[in-house]
Amino acid sequence: MNLNTELRVGIDLGGTKIEGVVIGAQGRIVAQQRIATPAGDYAATVDAVAALALRLEAAAGGAALPIGVGTPGAMSAASGRMKNCNSTCLNGQPLLADLEARLGPRVRIANDADCMTLSEASDGAAAGAEVVFGAILGTGVGGGIVVRGQLLRGANAIAGEWGHNPLPWPQPGELPGLACYCGRSGCIETWVSGPGLAADHARVNGVALRGEDIAAAAAAGDAAAEATLQRYVQRLARGLAHIINVLDPQVIVLGGGLSRLRRLYREVPEAWKPWIFSDEVRTRLLPAQYGDASGVRGAAWLWPGAA
Ligand SMILES: [Zn+2]
Repeated sequence: MNLNTELRVGIDLGGTKIEGVVIGAQGRIVAQQRIATPAGDYAATVDAVAALALRLEAAAGGAALPIGVGTPGAMSAASGRMKNCNSTCLNGQPLLADLEARLGPRVRIANDADCMTLSEASDGAAAGAEVVFGAILGTGVGGGIVVRGQLLRGANAIAGEWGHNPLPWPQPGELPGLACYCGRSGCIETWVSGPGLAADHARVNGVALRGEDIAAAAAAGDAAAEATLQRYVQRLARGLAHIINVLDPQVIVLGGGLSRLRRLYREVPEAWKPWIFSDEVRTRLLPAQYGDASGVRGAAWLWPGAA
């Protein structure tokens, strides 16, 4: 298939919405659309993604374009079927093959955290950095790795999946930790996701608050909420110290709802120092420059093309 290489389609397939863009040279947005995700219906989801891609192409002039799709899980290299998706109707399904059956052999797919990391390493907060780790702190916790501009996929398509490692250097009261949907207990995700933050506050204080309400209460001077956020900072710092000790990235980029907590960028790099095997730590912790749009931009960057 002869593809236009100046423009490319990026689609971010989320649990509640599907975002799509057409990106041109220098990362310029040429067209943009958003639709609701058909809840729990795989066939309807495939149809919706394909139809969105075709509408975006029509809006950008009608030529067939390369298409990148960010998904909530990963594609098994062995079977071509999806796994690890929290939108569980995707699991076990040959999403790439089904999209190519509708759109032709011009589709690439990757995990949404991988797409965020690729976006930020390509033209965002981590542009120019040699090694970048990206973490999404949202309903779940995902991660991705980009080395010299290339997404690291890994032998099992799980490179960067840090959320289901155990919280390192556990402190009193942190063991065994909460049960995780993955079947283990005390996963990093159960501590540093939005629900993990809320669960920690509820466990200590007996008060159910959402993550953003805890942040607002702390900003208003609530001591219990402030203590919850300080525990959160310490746990995130220990989790990321593990990443630095193994991967030693120049930049760690945070995306997802909790990445909007500005104090993280000041406090976490102080808190990770005791856990890192180096007397100086030059790794920078930065918020995603493109925020929630990083996923859809990174999906488009799955085709580096001629930008
Ligand atoms: Zn887990």
